[in-house]
Amino acid sequence: MGKRIVVALGGNALGQSLPEQMAAVKQTARAIAELIAGGNEVVVSHGNGPQVGMLQKAMAQLTRSDPERYIPCPLSVCVAMSQGYIGYDLQNALREELLNRGIHKGVATVLTQVEVDPNDPAFRHPTKPIGAFHTPDEAKTLIQQWGYRMAEDAGRGWRRVVASPKPVSIVEIDTIRALVDSDHVVVACGGGGIPVFRTGGHHLKGAAAVIDKDFASEKLAELLDADCLMILTAVEKAAIHFGKPEQQWLDTISVEEARRYCGEGHFAPGSMLPKVEAAIAFAASKPGRRALITLLEKAKDGVEGRTGTVIVQP
Ligand code: ADP
Ligand code: MG
Repeated sequence: MGKRIVVALGGNALGQSLPEQMAAVKQTARAIAELIAGGNEVVVSHGNGPQVGMLQKAMAQLTRSDPERYIPCPLSVCVAMSQGYIGYDLQNALREELLNRGIHKGVATVLTQVEVDPNDPAFRHPTKPIGAFHTPDEAKTLIQQWGYRMAEDAGRGWRRVVASPKPVSIVEIDTIRALVDSDHVVVACGGGGIPVFRTGGHHLKGAAAVIDKDFASEKLAELLDADCLMILTAVEKAAIHFGKPEQQWLDTISVEEARRYCGEGHFAPGSMLPKVEAAIAFAASKPGRRALITLLEKAKDGVEGRTGTVIVQP
């Protein structure tokens, strides 16, 4: 029987540049269309690390080139731009793949705002690296001229780091649900959603942050009462002792086991840890919900129980 699946796409589903993205989304669309052809209801979300970094850099260059005319573009607007063009590519490729299979369904991207808490400790400790790598001298200049927070990223150079608060609520959730319930294929919560604060009255104010797509997708899956949260990434399974001789790939594990492995430090913060944490939160949110971490190319095999790391509440 068909399931409702929230598919969270990682960096490898979108590529690192515009031409790479055009090619990558074709394969991504094929994997998603297969799930839909199998009778599942699919909701798509995706990350935006490289893309939001690129847009932010382009907008900053514009400001520098003509400061009289262009003021710095807020990070929330850069996230919105990334949702727009990634959504366009996915929507375009998915429509084609579905029509090629004789499937007539509407495909739409919902620009999604996600509420964050202004008191989230993440605002005091920015941790998420975005965009290009810089030398220490360039980093110093960026800090002095633009007030950026810069941090050394795993020996590869300096990058801008931004706050990555936890999602509190999805503003457009009713709209997304209405489309999903009427059998449309929806792309939502791209790049973790456009981060906004609630202010006085009904105003929502953009926040200078990038929400982790794994956590936003988890929230989306819960609120849509999905059966499965599927996190598609660059590895077929999560592992304990990752990269070490005693490495062991994980098949089906319980929430409790997964929590223990997190506590033992098996998953790298900023890459595998948020996925496992999101998977745990979803599986623990209601009996019967399953979370799956696997490769994009293995999406169908994963749904049919043939591969991936599955986290369940037994
Ligand atoms: P995405 O763009 O899909 O979010 P990330 O690069 O952020 O991808 O995270 C996936 C990566 O996490 C894998 O490619 C792998 O190199 C790394 N990783 C870190 N710890 C683990 C682990 N314990 N098991 C598997 N992969 C891990
Ligand atoms: Mg990631």
